[in-house]
Amino acid sequence: MLESPLRVLAPHYCVSCDTIGQILCMYCKYNIESEQYEACLVCSGPVGGGEALCSHHILPYSRAWCVGERSAALRALLDQYKFERAKDAYHELAQLLDLSLPVLPEDVVVVPVPTIAPHIRRRGFDHTALVAKELAKRRGLIYQHAIERVTTTSQLGKGKRDRRKQAAQAFACVRPAQPGRYLLIDDIFTTGATVEFAAQALRDAGATEVWLAIVARQPLEK
Ligand SMILES: [Zn+2]
Ligand SMILES: [Zn+2]
Repeated sequence: MLESPLRVLAPHYCVSCDTIGQILCMYCKYNIESEQYEACLVCSGPVGGGEALCSHHILPYSRAWCVGERSAALRALLDQYKFERAKDAYHELAQLLDLSLPVLPEDVVVVPVPTIAPHIRRRGFDHTALVAKELAKRRGLIYQHAIERVTTTSQLGKGKRDRRKQAAQAFACVRPAQPGRYLLIDDIFTTGATVEFAAQALRDAGATEVWLAIVARQPLEK
């Protein structure tokens, strides 16, 4: 009888340091925030002003931001969220993205990179859509689930060439994009193939500019 209220009151432990209280304690959150990601997501080259894309690439997106490298507390938080169904973590992830982004024009439309259906079924929620929606709410921006997956192949564990080939045919715009600016949200940037083709789908449908907000950059293999 008492089970459900007790479960509601069950405390969280910080995913990174086990401190009782929140899923990410203030100390670990501060550690993530204070290490601003300032390198090109694509080539790791230098960038300025908190951006994460240098000027050497011709891509369907023209600006990018990233919370941090996928390591330490940020990795623990994302892994709990994606693989241990810690659904509430979307609040923390959206907040971290919010802090990494500059002031954006109010006409920017927030769009998540769509998750493949079997992953949504397994988790019981669309992890990227939840973060994107929460970010849009925090910023007072329009949210649109504008892109759909047209293939269901998972990219996990695939080589760079396979990923590229799959990603090239993976997306289609479900809503005709208005000419305008779109902020594409994804959780992890590895080779960049996924976001490149998702951004291309938006451009093909009429978007004049696509920007990118990434939660974590997968560390490069050394
Ligand atoms: Zn902690
Ligand atoms: Zn670069």
